[in-house]
Amino acid sequence: LFELGVTPIEACSQIGQNYAVVQIDGEIIGYTSHKNSAQIANTLRFWKVAGKNGIPLDLEIGYVPPSTKGQYPGLFIFGGHSRMMRPVKYLPLGKEDIVGPFEQVYMNIAVTAPEIVNDVHTHVEFSPTNILSILANLTPFSDYNQSPRNMYQCQMGKQTMGTPGVGLVHRSDNKLYRLQSGQTPIVKANLYDDYGMDNFPNGTNAVVAVISYTCYDMDDAMIINKSADERGFGYGTMYKVEKVDLSMNRSRGDPITQHFGFGSDEWPQEWLTNIDEDGLPYVGTFVQEGDPIAAFYDEISGKTKVKTYHHSEPAYIEAVNLIGDDSNSLNNSELQTVSIKYRITRTPQIGDKFSSRHGQKGVCSRKWPTIDMPFSETGIQPDIIINPHAFPSRMTIGMFVESLAGKAGCLHGIAQDATPWRFNEEDTPADYFGEQLKAAGYNYHGNEPLYSGATGEELRVDIYIGVVYYQRLRHMVNDKYQVRSTGPVNALTMQPVKGRKRGGGIRIGEMERDAFIGHGTAYLLQDRLLNCSDYTHSAICKDCGSILTTQSSVPRIGGKSTVRCRRCAIKFEDVKSVLNKQKAASGDENEDIYIDDSYIWEDGQGKKFVGGVNTTTVAIPFVLKYLDSELSAMGIRLKYNVEP
Ligand SMILES: [Zn+2]
Repeated sequence: LFELGVTPIEACSQIGQNYAVVQIDGEIIGYTSHKNSAQIANTLRFWKVAGKNGIPLDLEIGYVPPSTKGQYPGLFIFGGHSRMMRPVKYLPLGKEDIVGPFEQVYMNIAVTAPEIVNDVHTHVEFSPTNILSILANLTPFSDYNQSPRNMYQCQMGKQTMGTPGVGLVHRSDNKLYRLQSGQTPIVKANLYDDYGMDNFPNGTNAVVAVISYTCYDMDDAMIINKSADERGFGYGTMYKVEKVDLSMNRSRGDPITQHFGFGSDEWPQEWLTNIDEDGLPYVGTFVQEGDPIAAFYDEISGKTKVKTYHHSEPAYIEAVNLIGDDSNSLNNSELQTVSIKYRITRTPQIGDKFSSRHGQKGVCSRKWPTIDMPFSETGIQPDIIINPHAFPSRMTIGMFVESLAGKAGCLHGIAQDATPWRFNEEDTPADYFGEQLKAAGYNYHGNEPLYSGATGEELRVDIYIGVVYYQRLRHMVNDKYQVRSTGPVNALTMQPVKGRKRGGGIRIGEMERDAFIGHGTAYLLQDRLLNCSDYTHSAICKDCGSILTTQSSVPRIGGKSTVRCRRCAIKFEDVKSVLNKQKAASGDENEDIYIDDSYIWEDGQGKKFVGGVNTTTVAIPFVLKYLDSELSAMGIRLKYNVEP
C-alpha cells in the first residue's frame, strides 16, 4: 500500500477533508488523496482477481468516495474471517471475483450482460437470479407479479407448515409444525433443486379453479374439496414438548423424595392403561385433557401421584426422553426429569390459512363434498376453489402462469421451469405453455367448460382451471379461536379478564364504543359495556349522593337489615343536642324530645345512629365504585343526583 502512494500514519503531517483514510480490518494504516485511494482500490481489485502479488480473492476492498452524506470516505479493506461474500464476474479480466457486503454498495454490478455500460460497470452477475434471496428465488414466475405480492410471499414462505428439518425424531423443540403430505412442486424455479428443497417440501400441488361458486369463496375464502382433504391435502401435525421435573419441588442438595414409578399404596388401576410400571407413559398412547401422563411415588406423603395432561387438544405420546442431571451425572443419580413429546394431529379445518406462492392467502371456508363440486369434461374436479376477485387488484399474473404451467406439466409429466426472466414479450409463457396444453388436447388458454356439481348443467362460461402449488400456513383456528359467555373476572374491577388462555373476553375498546354510538345501537352499547361486563347493584344515598357512605344496618330480632347512609345519619348520643339546637333556633324550648325506636339503627360495632334513611339501589358498572374509592383516597368526592 505504501508503494502505491499511501502515507504511513506516523509520517502524516496533515489530515482532513482532502485526505482519504486507509484502514485494514478497522485499523488506520495511513492517509492518501481521494483520487489516489480510488486508484489504489482499482489496482488492488485487478491484482486480486488476477491472482497477482499474493492478494487473496476473498479480500474486501471497500472504497467510499467523498460525498456530503453517507459513510465516511476512505479506503476500507477487510480480510478477516467469517465474512459473507458472493461471486460475481469481473469484467476487465472476465474472471470470478468475490465481493462482500461493504464494498458491494459502492460497486457497479450489472444484472445482465446487455445492461453493461462501458466505463460504468466493472462487474456483471453470473445469473440475474443472484439479486434475489433464497426465499424470493422460490417464487415461480415472480417477474410476472406486482412486487408487494412477492414480498408478501417472502413473509408467508417462512410461515408455512412445511418440513422444518430432517432430524425431527431427535429434536425436542417446544412447538414444531410438520406437513405430512408435502410434495415437490410441478412448477419450480431452477434454484429450488440447487437448494435441495425437495428434502423440505412445504406444500401440495392442488387443482385450482378460479370461479365464484356458492359464495363460500367470498373475500379471500377458499373452498376445499372434501375428498381432497380426506386424501391428505395439507394434512399436518404439531409437536409439543413438555418437561416433567420431579426435582422442581425440592431445593438443591436435599435428598430425593419423589421417584418415578408406583408405590405400594392404593392407587387407581386405570392409571396403568396409560402408564408403564416405570411411571412413564407408553409411546403411542392417546391422551386427552386430565389423563395421567406420568406417575411418581412421594415418600413424604407415602402416596403415589400422577401428573396429568393439561392441553385442551388431545394428543399422542410421540416420545419420552430421559434427562440426566448436569450437577452429578457422574455418580449415576436417580432419574428426576423426563421430557415428553406430544404429537397433535391437525387436519385442515374451516378457518385454517392457506396460500399459493404469490402472496395470495386465503382461509378455508368449507370442505365441500365432491359430489357438489364442479367437474370438467375429463372428470377433473378442483381441490380448491378461489374467487376471481382475488386477482384484478393484486395483479398476481405469476399465479395464472403457474396454473397454466402446472396444468401442462401434469398433462405431459414434466416438471416446469419457473425461473424468473426466462420469457419475454416475443416468447411469452402463455404461448409456451399454451402450445403444451394444445398438444395434450386442452384449451390453449387454460380455460375449460365446467359442469355444476349440483345440477349437472354446463356453466355458462369457461373456467380457468390449473395446478397451483399451495402452502398450508401455520395459523390455525385451533390456536386462535376465542369464546366466552361468562367466565373469570378481574378481582379489582369485576370486569372480564383478557387473554385467550384464561377464557377471557374480547375488549370493546374506545373505537368499538364509538362505532356503536355512530350506529345508534344504544342497547347494544349498554349490553356490551354494562350488562355483559361488570354489572352490579349498589346502594346510594339520595340526600348526599354518595355510594361510598351507605352501609347496611344490623337487623333487629324479627326484622330485616336496612341500608342507611352513615354520612347523613346522626349519632344517637348527639341527637338530643342537635335537636335542641334546632329547637332553639325555632324558639320553643321546653317541649319533650321523643324519638321513635324504629328510627334508631346500629352499625354492627355497637354504635347507634338516627336518620340517613333516604337510600335506594342503582345499577352501575363496578369500576365506577372503584373509581369513586380511588378518588376519595385523593380527597375528591363524587356526587350523584339520583332521580326520582
Ligand atoms: Zn347520605
